[in-house]
Amino acid sequence: MATVGVDLGGTKVMAAVVHHGKPHHPGKVPTPTDGPEAVVEAIATLIEETAAANDVEVTHVGIGAPGKVDREAGVLAHAPNLVGFGQPVALADMVAARLGGDVHVRLDNDVSVAALGEGTHGAAAGSADLLAVWVGTGVGGGLILGGDLRRGDSGGAGEIGHTTVWPEGRVCGCGGIGHLEAYAGRAALEAEARRRHAAGEPSALVDLAGEERMKSKIFAEALDAGDQVATRLLDDAVQALGLSIASVVTVVDIDLVVIGGGLGGRLGDPFVARVERVVQEKVFGNRPVRLVTSTLLDYAGVVGAAELF
Ligand SMILES: [Zn+2]
Repeated sequence: MATVGVDLGGTKVMAAVVHHGKPHHPGKVPTPTDGPEAVVEAIATLIEETAAANDVEVTHVGIGAPGKVDREAGVLAHAPNLVGFGQPVALADMVAARLGGDVHVRLDNDVSVAALGEGTHGAAAGSADLLAVWVGTGVGGGLILGGDLRRGDSGGAGEIGHTTVWPEGRVCGCGGIGHLEAYAGRAALEAEARRRHAAGEPSALVDLAGEERMKSKIFAEALDAGDQVATRLLDDAVQALGLSIASVVTVVDIDLVVIGGGLGGRLGDPFVARVERVVQEKVFGNRPVRLVTSTLLDYAGVVGAAELF
């Protein structure tokens, strides 16, 4: 009897047998871009490989997926970051059918699952109340209150990336105006850096990335080199994150926030400390709020997905 956690992301899929909050023999592959069947095959293969490497029989599989999830039905309802997932996909049933036997599969949102991982075995282990903010390609959030993951009426609880930080600001990937994600998500930062570069504001970000995706690592390097565009974009990201987080913290009255995701994890403690200063300045009631960097980092999703059981 073993549980596998699966982290299905827009760029990669990762899976590992998880035991007492530790991933064992994790495997990962780039996320297939030819539709749900190929993604199911990739997930099932990774599960079989980690099971074989650990010499265990898999009985439970938890999956964290990017987008809106109907977790009762095990359906990924809306996943704009996955190619070919324009229609709702019964992912849990498809993975169970492909694996065969008597395997229980559960599905939930990726950042909710990461929040669960951090709350049980990571940076916030033992805390009943926490907000997790995942700064990656986009910006996602997960909220745990009284030890329970909050999903909300429509499954959209924690979507901090789509709160407004600048009413007349940049257009967000969702079509909204001035959302946090448009200021702090890696994809939005890349688009803005390329726009400024084309408008005559040269940046090491574009020189380092070339035609390739502007990875989190490149933002870290450009910042270290004192690049002006990177510095200004990240200053805005810090401010935007601080404003949104301070509002959430004020409303739900919590004092612990975990920051993770590709960009959040890569920029790490100095970045998180800067966001914490903005939160502290803006939060109502002048009370202490602690922001900490994810400790599970790349494995938060896998560990959290296993916690769905
Ligand atoms: Zn938005």
